[in-house]
Amino acid sequence: MSLAISDCTQNFIQGEWTAGTSSATIPVTNPATGDLLGSVPDCRERDAVRAVEAAEGAAARWAGMPAVERERVLLRAHDLMLQHAEDLAQIITLEEGKPLAEARAEVSYGASFVRWYAAEGRRLYGDIVPSPDPGRHLLVFREPVGPTLVITPWNDPFAMVTRKVAPALAAGCPVVIKPARETPFSAAAAVRLFAEAGVPPGVINLVTTSRSGAVCDAMLSHLAIRHVTFTGSTEVGKLLGARAGALVKGMTMELGGHAPFVVFEDADLDEAVTGLLARKFRNAGQTCSCPSRLFLQEGIADAFLEAFIDGMKRIVVGNGMAPGVTMGPLINPAAVEKVQAHVADAVAKGARVIPGGQRHGDGRGSFLAPTVLTHVRPHMLVAQDETFGPVAPFFRFRDEAELSSIVNHPTYGLTGYCYTRDLSRAFRVTAALRCGFIGLNDPAPQSAEVPMGGVRESGVGREGGRWGIDEFVTVKYVSLRV
Ligand code: NAP
Repeated sequence: MSLAISDCTQNFIQGEWTAGTSSATIPVTNPATGDLLGSVPDCRERDAVRAVEAAEGAAARWAGMPAVERERVLLRAHDLMLQHAEDLAQIITLEEGKPLAEARAEVSYGASFVRWYAAEGRRLYGDIVPSPDPGRHLLVFREPVGPTLVITPWNDPFAMVTRKVAPALAAGCPVVIKPARETPFSAAAAVRLFAEAGVPPGVINLVTTSRSGAVCDAMLSHLAIRHVTFTGSTEVGKLLGARAGALVKGMTMELGGHAPFVVFEDADLDEAVTGLLARKFRNAGQTCSCPSRLFLQEGIADAFLEAFIDGMKRIVVGNGMAPGVTMGPLINPAAVEKVQAHVADAVAKGARVIPGGQRHGDGRGSFLAPTVLTHVRPHMLVAQDETFGPVAPFFRFRDEAELSSIVNHPTYGLTGYCYTRDLSRAFRVTAALRCGFIGLNDPAPQSAEVPMGGVRESGVGREGGRWGIDEFVTVKYVSLRV
């Protein structure tokens, strides 16, 4: 049976699809056309608390289930995701805007976390610690931390759900998911497949709301919730983190980034240009790991720019559902205005636009032309704040010494990229970059097997690999005297 937006318009609490207790709804529009796609419940605190209580009620049974049983359920969910890959990709493209090919890649990336954590849940080993005293045995167990609040952004509306929910479920934690209001259907589709795979009632819950602050606070302050895992802006992450800290709850924070992309004179220029074109304009520049401060060594800067601008001519901007389109719209008109304000600020402070800067199309969707900025300086908004759009701001540098004084952002530290064929330099720059993860001659370092996350104000905790499941685990130590 196929999966469509019409199957994804309700909340999911205690194993049942529900409109909630309020008659209010949130309209969801297609950013490529402005057309209404459907709506979801605008739930109130009482609905959210019911979801938390459902998770609380299901926690002991899910935690007590043998890990191998949870693995079976998650593997079924993974298989269902692949079976429904095309349906999921269409839902993502319709509500988020990215081209269908990118949405298909998101489904495969998102499902890979479910498969990885299905197995990883079986490897939550404890420890036996050598005892300092005769007759005592020191045992350390690893247990699920408990019901978890999952808050996700709109930019990878399926994969950001699976990247959090899979390790939580594998560790034995029930979840309540609160997706972004712009993209609730992809999250509901994921929940539908987890439930169809056999995740028991109460173990996975979904609530949608236009009052995220109040509704999330009602859930976070409920005693049953023991952890919050959030992906989104640093601004909201700080609010949630402060609240979680005050309530003594665990947190995983995957926040904003401002990734440097460095190209040295000894780099393979073709590879670097291809890598930057692919990474910069993916999802119209709306990714946390998007290269957004681009550093070219002087000797190759002109040649690089020429090849890059030439490559940009192959970008086809349009509705992500249309064949051949390689870059979709921004998420909404406010996002277009923010990006244009950043470009205007840069130009007012001396940057040059070659080419781009203008809106694209007939004004119906939130389209912006791919844009290049040269003569960028650190005091411009594009260098300081996340632009989150298809703008490529270029700096030039003379040598490693000059680069090291400008490459690190004062607050962000998520992803970094560096292209060089000099191995010693690669390691020197890797050590100097203040980032959570780095692509060395690699524009796409992410995968389910490895740890991703930020330093400084880009986040706390890690997602992916054996590290990601630790976020949902607590240790219990037992001293046994015999
Ligand atoms: P956002 O505005 O921070 O929203 C993220 C989520 O938080 C949404 O579900 C949002 O709901 C909710 N939210 C907003 N205000 C809240 C509050 N006061 N309390 C609780 N929840 C609240 O971020 P976004 O614009 O959706 O996503 C883009 C950001 O995510 C960028 O900064 C990007 O770098 C970051 N990101 C980071 C990673 C990573 O791995 N580090 C990955 C992807 C994205 P509403 O929709 O109702 O506002």
